[in-house]
Amino acid sequence: MDSYKTCAICGRKAVFYSAYLKQELCKKHFERMLIKRVRSNMNLHKIKESSFIFGDENNCGKEFLKFMFKDMDSSSGEKLYSYTLEDFAVCVMEFFLFHNPPDKKIEQKNGFSPLFNVSEHEIISFFKLKKKDIEHITRNGKDEYVLKFLTEIEERRPGGMISLVKAGIKLGII
Ligand SMILES: [Zn+2]
Repeated sequence: MDSYKTCAICGRKAVFYSAYLKQELCKKHFERMLIKRVRSNMNLHKIKESSFIFGDENNCGKEFLKFMFKDMDSSSGEKLYSYTLEDFAVCVMEFFLFHNPPDKKIEQKNGFSPLFNVSEHEIISFFKLKKKDIEHITRNGKDEYVLKFLTEIEERRPGGMISLVKAGIKLGII
């Protein structure tokens, strides 16, 4: 009997463990899940898929937005920020740890971050499955330190960053 893990949806060979869904997924369902989540974030915030410009706050996030919305008109005033789950998790954690005033909002005046619940780990894995290398993000020392701490928690308890970001939303921090 094969010892590999199987996709929770179709039973084929799994390539990714989704901390978000708490499920193993195959390539097809991993890609679908990620794209669906971003679309549903856009719909939930009533952002039409037709008119916006990309922010470049997180290169890896920007690559993913470009992949999803490649035919967009870039003349509109609406801006899609490419901040990711890690960016927001660090922001909320620094608010709790150091009382840092939050410097990122999911929804801003004329702007929105549709990747607030999508991790860099997911984006990098997504492109790796498409045989495309995406650069890792470099952060300043303090952010890097906090992210390292969060990543260690995430490894022991997948979904920790999502929970932190959800708490940040509920409390109006981000
Ligand atoms: Zn599948």
